Amino acid sequence: MRGRLPDLLADVGDGYLAGSHVVRSDVVVTPPEPRSDQPIRRHLLEATQASGKTYTFDEQHDPSVPVAHWFQHSDDGLVLFIVLYTQACRWSCCTGCNLPSTSSGDPVHYGDIIRQIDRVFRNHEVVTRRNEIRKTIVSNNGSVLDEATFPTTALLHLLVRINQDLPQMAVLSLETRAEYVDIEELEFLARVMRERSTPAEIELAVGFEAFDDDLRNRVFKKGLSLATFERLVDRIRHPNFRLKCYFMQKPVVAMSDDEAVEDIRRGVDYLHDLSLRTGVRINMHLNPTFVAKGTPLEEAFRRGTYSPPQLDDVMRAVLHGAAKSISIFVGLYDEGLCVPGGSFRRPGDDRLVGALESFNRTQDYGALAEFSRQFSAGF
Ligand code: SF4
Repeated sequence: MRGRLPDLLADVGDGYLAGSHVVRSDVVVTPPEPRSDQPIRRHLLEATQASGKTYTFDEQHDPSVPVAHWFQHSDDGLVLFIVLYTQACRWSCCTGCNLPSTSSGDPVHYGDIIRQIDRVFRNHEVVTRRNEIRKTIVSNNGSVLDEATFPTTALLHLLVRINQDLPQMAVLSLETRAEYVDIEELEFLARVMRERSTPAEIELAVGFEAFDDDLRNRVFKKGLSLATFERLVDRIRHPNFRLKCYFMQKPVVAMSDDEAVEDIRRGVDYLHDLSLRTGVRINMHLNPTFVAKGTPLEEAFRRGTYSPPQLDDVMRAVLHGAAKSISIFVGLYDEGLCVPGGSFRRPGDDRLVGALESFNRTQDYGALAEFSRQFSAGF
């Protein structure tokens, strides 16, 4: 569904609007209730403030320049990650997330987004590595499939540039909230990808954040029920799409380090079973949480009641994925959104970072387990 904001809120999870509450069987989420005559900008500000977040939007940004692009190495090969500048995520409620602070409060015209896309494909490093790039992840720090913030014309232009400029790309990953996934549109996108000389698969990249329902929806305010998520998985089975699920390790204050590891392990088990049951290829993209500026985590961090996860705990969580049906990628980049000292990367963590980066490329659990044994023994 890619409807208007009231439709969107009416469809979150398995919930329904009751006054200002979205009610589900197990949790109550309280996003600000938009009025049909309310401009999106005002809704965005209310959603942000109601979630205890203090950041504003990046209004100084040149709309013809993307937010960022960078390269990663995964088991799919070289990955080009593109973040485009558009109007902010219309949900904007998630308490630990300040991604919308990189976006605009107002709509960005598709002409400007097209200029951003062209700029990425003119970039010297992208041009130089175009034949190596095997996967592209496209983000607007919100939902690429939300036509209200990411115009369809810009999405079509992006597909054309990808088909023309990245001949070896085998996977196109699109970040989106689950409620914007419209199966007819995905069929169309898949057709465009099949016309390439190297046919490419489509992966949807969806934020899950925490496995525990209560933490995910009541505390983090994700607005995603398991039933909604599973409906999405069911919908993408037959077009044969892949799925990436973003998880955060220790995304909320009310979680010990051990509970955070356990939450990821439960997420791994859940995705493993789901992948076996549905045949959908699933990747868990595990982001160790950093202290995002302008979020309640920042306040707790300053009070000394929150610290980001340790990377050896992240490694413990990842090792639970051995012999499971999913792949895991550990996100080790804070995109400049972290408060000073609030990163999960601490001085002396270089070896751990190296081991996790190597794991991202190889999915070699034996090597990671061996590194973990040596690390624990103090070598
Ligand atoms: S986590 Fe995703 S859905 Fe939630 S506010 Fe951030 S960008 Fe929006």
